[in-house]
Amino acid sequence: MAQQFADNFDRKFYYLRLSVTDVCNFKCTYCLPDGYKPENGKRESFLELDEIERTVSAFARCGTSKVRITGGEPSLRKDFTDIIRTVASQPGITKVATTTNGYRMEKHVAEWREAGLTDINVSVDSLNPHMFYQITGENKFAEVMAGIDKALEVGFKQVKVNTVLLKDLNSTELPLFLKWIQTRPIQLRFIELMQTGEMNDLFKNHHQSGVSIRNHLIANGWLLKARGESDGPAQVFIHPDYVGEIGLIMPYEKDFCQSCNRLRVSAKGKLHMCLFGDYGVDLRDLLQQDSQQDELIQRIQTQLDNKAEGHFLHDGHAGMTPHLASIGG
Ligand code: SAM
Ligand code: SF4
Repeated sequence: MAQQFADNFDRKFYYLRLSVTDVCNFKCTYCLPDGYKPENGKRESFLELDEIERTVSAFARCGTSKVRITGGEPSLRKDFTDIIRTVASQPGITKVATTTNGYRMEKHVAEWREAGLTDINVSVDSLNPHMFYQITGENKFAEVMAGIDKALEVGFKQVKVNTVLLKDLNSTELPLFLKWIQTRPIQLRFIELMQTGEMNDLFKNHHQSGVSIRNHLIANGWLLKARGESDGPAQVFIHPDYVGEIGLIMPYEKDFCQSCNRLRVSAKGKLHMCLFGDYGVDLRDLLQQDSQQDELIQRIQTQLDNKAEGHFLHDGHAGMTPHLASIGG
């Protein structure tokens, strides 16, 4: 193995979040409220399969064991199954995950699993179909639910569900969510709304801290679970009476960045040190031939020396990210 990717704060990077498209068919209020629009109105060029292979190969050689394929909506890529297969076939990659809005899951999840997908996250912002529509701009609640059932049916041991916590929208649904996971192997993860560049009043009006949920869980006998080395930043709670689990992702909490173990590559081949960083470093010129792998690793390693200790979200500084679809949330 080449030298393990690490930074100056003794954080090791086992986890790559790889975006494969900026395009999305949903219009989530906190992400793409007006729907996807190509930059400068032009057709965009996202990483091709061979570029994806070279990216993942370089990361795997430097200790990465988990890759999350994200977007935009990754399942909109016609070659999505081939992407999964390519990522899964890289030596050293033991976990291949995706984050999806779930609308194509029912039809394709069996094929994704067969291609090597090991973990799946689906976004479900409400268990009320009307609220789901209000938040995502799409009337696809039934399809997404059927997709989750199908994933469990074809053999995924657990499905992770991402729910962005939104005050006065879905914040009253905790009892409904708890009932839903009582008998299902679902890890439901409440994500605090993060402020991004293009967000105006939404954050002011709807951001809610996860603390009240954490207090409720602890008061009701839920216990914090230990964290694995390639796990994400969620604090995960378990309860003997529930098959499912509850995760809390609270980026505004002190020390959130200390456990950072991931790097990001955007759909246009830019390396991002942080979701809320100020710049991305282009890798694409080094993704064109297998013979460039050592130079690629060198470029990534140089950038790691510049990774900041934490983000500055608390100061209202969200970096260059206009919305999470542009960098792979
Ligand atoms: N389209 C896929 C989906 O929605 O699952 C994958 C990409 S999406 C950007 C990844 C995750 O980021 C989703 O779970 C979404 O809810 C979350 N997300 C997007 N914008 C966010 C924001 N401003 N704050 C918190 N979470 C956000
Ligand atoms: Fe699309 Fe995901 Fe953004 Fe919603 S959160 S608009 S599904 S990329």
